[in-house]
Amino acid sequence: MKGLKSHQRNDEKEVEILDFNDKDRRSHRKEPKKRGRNKEYAIVTYVFLTLFICMTAYLIYFMQVKSDDFINNSYNARLATLADQTIRGDILANDGTILAKTQVDEQLNETRYYPYGRVFAHAVGYSVNGMAGAELDANYNLLRSNSFILTRIANEIAGHKNQGDDVVTTLDVSLQQTCYDALGSYEGAIICIEPSTGKILAMVSKPDYDPNTIAQNWDTYVSEDSDSTALLNRATQGLYAPGSTFKIFTLLSYLHQNSQASDFYYDCNGTYTYEGYSMHCYNGKAHGSENLMDAFGNSCNCAFSQIGLELDISGYNKLCNQLLFNQSLSTALKNTAVSRMSLSKDSSKSLIMQTAIGQGETMVSPLHMAMVASAIANQGELMEPYIIDHTQNDGGTIVKQFDPVSAGALMSKADAQTLQQFMRYVVTNGTGSLLNSDTYTAYGKTGTAEFSSNKNQDHSWFVGYAQDANGRQIAVAVVMESVASGGSYAVPATKTIFDHYFAAY
Ligand SMILES: [Zn+2]
Repeated sequence: MKGLKSHQRNDEKEVEILDFNDKDRRSHRKEPKKRGRNKEYAIVTYVFLTLFICMTAYLIYFMQVKSDDFINNSYNARLATLADQTIRGDILANDGTILAKTQVDEQLNETRYYPYGRVFAHAVGYSVNGMAGAELDANYNLLRSNSFILTRIANEIAGHKNQGDDVVTTLDVSLQQTCYDALGSYEGAIICIEPSTGKILAMVSKPDYDPNTIAQNWDTYVSEDSDSTALLNRATQGLYAPGSTFKIFTLLSYLHQNSQASDFYYDCNGTYTYEGYSMHCYNGKAHGSENLMDAFGNSCNCAFSQIGLELDISGYNKLCNQLLFNQSLSTALKNTAVSRMSLSKDSSKSLIMQTAIGQGETMVSPLHMAMVASAIANQGELMEPYIIDHTQNDGGTIVKQFDPVSAGALMSKADAQTLQQFMRYVVTNGTGSLLNSDTYTAYGKTGTAEFSSNKNQDHSWFVGYAQDANGRQIAVAVVMESVASGGSYAVPATKTIFDHYFAAY
């Protein structure tokens, strides 16, 4: 019925236009000069109309797209003006728990208060002496007020500040606390991502700082003679040797380049020597006869050194670039580190052997590794990690919703499913066996990265994900620095995270 009515209306319009044209034609016949002038008017009108449309379109484009970039610049004077007119909004966890708020005393002095102190330090960030974390990512939103219009008018008249919008993050308070505790007294980072959306559920980096006292302690973090790295968010900005977690990339490259990978056989005696350069399995262990899955599950350095030497280097590089090396990461987060991997035809055999097992010159960020695990869990599709879910006014009405954004296929579905099998084998039969559980199914790769000549200190890694029977998933990257050799640190930390995550729901 609706369609019919609109057709009728259109017909009526057409009739009116035809009538008008008829009249016009009649009048032109009588006054030819006026016709010429009308044409000039029409041209001028069209020119102005076009200009007007262009300007309106640009204005809309600027307001929608450019203004956020323009205004969300900490050196921009307009932000200072906004800060003078607005009480900075709250930052909230995914359940509405307050993570940061501005307290105003009777003298109208404003103090930014962070109830959880160090626990959310790097995720929520700070907003004095520059900005970091969610305070930086959502700065513009926190300084904009979408309070009830009459309240804002009343505030303008009375000379009072408006209440800035609140920013609701994707962060989960209890999971964040669990990750914070799991990292313990070690330096390092943990990041948890929901694979189907890219939501960052938890992000911890140590050493950290108390955001409540950061202004008072600023000099101790930034002075020239300070060796503190407390302001560095290792989860997004830290670069580490990936250790054996890099075997995920070496494995996929080998599978791409060898159609006969199922025939792979290696007999590990604990040492592999090529042209005088020797590689050793962890703790000198001899893994014996292995197929490809055993070599991955055992994290056999000897087998993977040999695999590295068999790879076509340009194909290996190309695959790593496809998997986010040597480029900015697709994420809504600001200031993220670029992971590095590059070999060339001229690289020495020893460097190729080291690279294949995650040593050498390769460096990765925990965020990058969590994104790869997330895409494997999500059948190859990478969802861009983000931490701002939505903004709302002081009455709780949603102002802006940030929806999940797909970065497309990081790898094919078939590749993701193959890696799932190998990463599952690490848990069922390999170095990640502590993650066997009745409540969830875990997948991943362990790693121990040597980072200095000090043989007694390594970085301990775990990269992977877990899911339960209901399809709930969580991807993680855990790196713990300077742990004593021989022990497993990142795997037990991951276990507490998975146990908590699947017990909590
Ligand atoms: Zn071995």
